[in-house]
Amino acid sequence: MKTAIATVSISGDLKEKLAAIAAAGFDGVEIFENDFLAYDASPREVGQMVRDHGLEISLFQPFRDFEGMPEPQRTRAFDRAERKFDLMQDLGTDLVLICSNVSPISLGGIDRAADDFRALGERAAARDIRIGYEALCWGRHVNDHRDAWEIVRRADHPNVGLILDSFHTLARKIDPETIRSIPGNKIFFVQLADAPQISMDLLYWSRHFRNMPGEGDLDVTAFMRAVAATGYDGMLSLEIFNDQFRSGSARSISADGHRSLVYLMDQVSRVEPDVRIAVPDMPERISVNGIEFVEFATSDAEADSLGSVLQTLGFAKTGQHISKKVELWRQGDINIVLNTEHEGFAHSSYVTHGTNVCDIGLKVEDAQATVARAKALGASPFEQAVGPGELQIPAIRGLGGGVMHFVDRKSELAKLWEVEFTPVTEGSSAEDAGLTRIDHVAETMGYGEMLTWLLFYTSIFETEKTPMVDVVDPAGLVRSQAVENSEGTFRITLNGAENYKTLAGHFLMENFGSAVQHLAFETNDIFASAAALLKNGFKPLTISPNYYEDLDARFGLEEDFLDAVKSHGILYDRDDQGGEYFQLYSPFFGEGFFFEIIERRGGYSGYGAANAQFRIAAQKRHMRAKGTPKR
Ligand code: MG
Ligand code: MG
Repeated sequence: MKTAIATVSISGDLKEKLAAIAAAGFDGVEIFENDFLAYDASPREVGQMVRDHGLEISLFQPFRDFEGMPEPQRTRAFDRAERKFDLMQDLGTDLVLICSNVSPISLGGIDRAADDFRALGERAAARDIRIGYEALCWGRHVNDHRDAWEIVRRADHPNVGLILDSFHTLARKIDPETIRSIPGNKIFFVQLADAPQISMDLLYWSRHFRNMPGEGDLDVTAFMRAVAATGYDGMLSLEIFNDQFRSGSARSISADGHRSLVYLMDQVSRVEPDVRIAVPDMPERISVNGIEFVEFATSDAEADSLGSVLQTLGFAKTGQHISKKVELWRQGDINIVLNTEHEGFAHSSYVTHGTNVCDIGLKVEDAQATVARAKALGASPFEQAVGPGELQIPAIRGLGGGVMHFVDRKSELAKLWEVEFTPVTEGSSAEDAGLTRIDHVAETMGYGEMLTWLLFYTSIFETEKTPMVDVVDPAGLVRSQAVENSEGTFRITLNGAENYKTLAGHFLMENFGSAVQHLAFETNDIFASAAALLKNGFKPLTISPNYYEDLDARFGLEEDFLDAVKSHGILYDRDDQGGEYFQLYSPFFGEGFFFEIIERRGGYSGYGAANAQFRIAAQKRHMRAKGTPKR
């Protein structure tokens, strides 16, 4: 497959953009005219610079307000086009995008537009230039790809073709299936963009909120399936106008873009027969059966205090690594690994972030296949030297500096704990608290990076994203969205901090970008767990009595029940189907890390979003009481 991206999609000057685009693996660029005009080099120099990066100029864009003009504007439009043809020849590209006219003086009329395109096609042919016509969804007379196609069809010129843009089709809710009746050879170029579903003016929505395929809510896959069915085998190009992307990291946004196209075509080729675009070979999205382990990088001293916290939570130290300073703590199906090695990845993670979750191990069907898919989608494999008797566990670098390992049951990895750990027999003084498994891992990142994480997880793993919710922190909003599988055995919540005064932002800053801010353990009986925790000396986060007053007002609870949740500091939520959610929080460990204990009843599938702001307020009170310097 050949991929391109419009220069307008990313930040930087033209040179920085090209470097990032080339590094991400694209074949070409759309030169957005303003990026060229703002850059101080001749068209020939810019063309050479693009080719020096190993890229081609796949498209020059946009040429506006061409078709259906009255005189004298019509003659002027043709003259203007000739000037741009000169420029294109100097740049070294043969395809220009003409978007449908938005001028109030344009006359409309399908045949008039077709005549204009036929005449311009003649002039273009003389210079070996091709012109592609795109229907802007806010075009004055043409705002639908079906009308643009009718104009191209009637123009009936070999140098005149159609340009399709998923945003313009899907934003107007035009059925993408209508693309299937267009001949593939008359589609000169395909632009792809997704967008979150927001009700607003089409032009504003398009110019500010587009995002990469798979990051938004539009059915870009259905659009691309229809395009593929026509036999189209040309460029797939991203044209993404997004305020955040234009101020974000050019490298990271470009990498996301390339990943989104590979992922899109992977999905399309699995359901659409005879796709003529060659798609990289990779296993299907990986189904995750649960979290095998969570590993903390820590120091000797902090490992002791983390161990004490784990004891109050009912964990027992059950294993010691055969050769490394690595301990296994276990309860139910939860494996927590504490790594205090003085070399290797965990150590460098500790040096950078302090005590933090540096590694997550996932249970999958086939660990090698998981790495193969992740690599095909641009993730970096991770390897470090293994000692004698240790297993080489397949792994990739995650985001936020962490690592993800993959463990399966079909290889020697099934015996990971037996092979690498010696059982520890000394009894634990702690009482098992009935915690059974990891329900979710909560990760924090800057708001501007959330889409990167979302795409990373949804493209590699068989997961879906939940709608984004706003969590109110007294110091600002935190956006929260989950990535989860349908079985509920793999749940990651993503929390995007807009500033450093929020709890999430504070955590990010104090831990230098560490990602995992809390771990939620599941119990089948929250009250029994709470009682056991109390015996172990666990002190739950103190929740304001006002919260319970409100809870009672909202749900009309039995008095005994209300007393029970209140006395244990348990937060409660209920969904419309009667599903119930119970949450119990630990105080902070270090700068803003914490544990959560949850119980789900009756199929509750959320994360207690309604409770988040009360939890945050309680945590901020706790932080102040502890005397943590306030920022
Ligand atoms: Mg476009
Ligand atoms: Mg949670």
